Amino acid sequence: RLLGKIIDGKLVAQHYTAEMKREVEALGSNHIVPTLAVIIVGEDDASKIYVRNKHRRAEGIGIHSINIRMPEETTQLALLERIDLLNSDPEVDGILVQLPLPEHINAQEVLNRINPDKDVDGFHPVNVGRLWSNNAQIVPSTPFGIMKMLAFYGVDPAGKQAVIIGRSTIVGRPMAAMLLNANATVTIAHSQTKNLRMLSQQADILVVAVGQSRFIKAEDIKPGAVVIDVGMNRDENHKLSGDVDFEAVIQKADLVTPVPGGVGPMTITMLMQQTINIAKRRALHAIQN
Ligand code: NDP
Repeated sequence: RLLGKIIDGKLVAQHYTAEMKREVEALGSNHIVPTLAVIIVGEDDASKIYVRNKHRRAEGIGIHSINIRMPEETTQLALLERIDLLNSDPEVDGILVQLPLPEHINAQEVLNRINPDKDVDGFHPVNVGRLWSNNAQIVPSTPFGIMKMLAFYGVDPAGKQAVIIGRSTIVGRPMAAMLLNANATVTIAHSQTKNLRMLSQQADILVVAVGQSRFIKAEDIKPGAVVIDVGMNRDENHKLSGDVDFEAVIQKADLVTPVPGGVGPMTITMLMQQTINIAKRRALHAIQN
């Protein structure tokens, strides 16, 4: 019975991956290969793993992936110039700058330089604005993947109370916009929120993106809630856990995402989906001209 309550992120990711392969084939018959350029600056180990995973996933779907590695001492100007080259390359669809960047580089200025129509992470202010004005084009992949999982499991946010814990620009804020656009009533909680647990207990949809193991326990949720755990925490043995006490919460909730195997697999899948969507716009443009 409990098995039916697990939102299987891998399963949803597989569904979209199969669809994407068909889309890439169709684009190929129009001589378009979706292309994703990833810039990594410096030697951050976690970043290297993420970039390698993105590369693998892309190639598996038939997306061409270009990895651009720049040394730690790269100047802001050199990085901006590299972005300009990608912006003007007609064969590059998505551009992504892997964060974090070295201290001496102004990350916001770098993200602002990416052509908004190629900004596959959806962090450019133009894309943030489009999302908040309910006119989204390219959006952050983690909350986008969550919306796809909700839809796959037949959860319609319309009219529901949605509570999001966490207000980061990559998860909490865009999640709030997406749920609002889907007609939920949205509350955003954060470290200054008073009576946070009273709020979480009222949530029909609870999204937890805090970064603290077992932050949410069974008593913090409403019976029958849908609980989305974004957290990715590593303990001293390097074991991965989420922000939600999964075993206890699943007894009381209607649907819960596990960690690993929930939100994580969908994030990278949606990055690929958006690269393909940009390539589709390129194909349309080619036909129109
Ligand atoms: P941030 O650290 O940027 O944001 C954490 C948020 O949680 C902040 O808004 C912070 O509030 C809030 N917070 C921290 N402590 C508390 C508290 N005690 N009570 C209430 N709110 C609190 O993290 P991210 O949004 O980037 O990531 C969140 C988690 O999700 C991390 O574990 C990260 O690893 C994971 N993650 C997973 C992804 C995936 O694909 N599965 C993708 C991205 C992130 P305040 O703003 O006031 O400081």
